[in-house]
Amino acid sequence: MASSTSATAKGLGYKHQARRKRLLPGAYGRPCPMCGAPMLQGQALDLDHTIPRALGGTVGDRITHASCNRRAGAVLGAKRRWGKKAAAAPMPTSQDW
Ligand SMILES: [Zn+2]
Repeated sequence: MASSTSATAKGLGYKHQARRKRLLPGAYGRPCPMCGAPMLQGQALDLDHTIPRALGGTVGDRITHASCNRRAGAVLGAKRRWGKKAAAAPMPTSQDW
């Protein structure tokens, strides 16, 4: 059951996987752009989108810790949910009462 297909489960396609594979070797030993700690072989690393997918970014272009990436995504998602909620809040537009 617990296979390592988290990226696939997130809905990211083969191209994302291939890009991640290509960028990973160059990322080992370099500081994570999110937390600054070195990214090491054996750690869970993710291909991140500099422009979040939620904001229209389509191409993952940097490697980060998977945990850092997910934390950022979760925060952004929560922010967007709240923003949406506020924007979609039912305003009393009908005045004919
Ligand atoms: Zn990190």
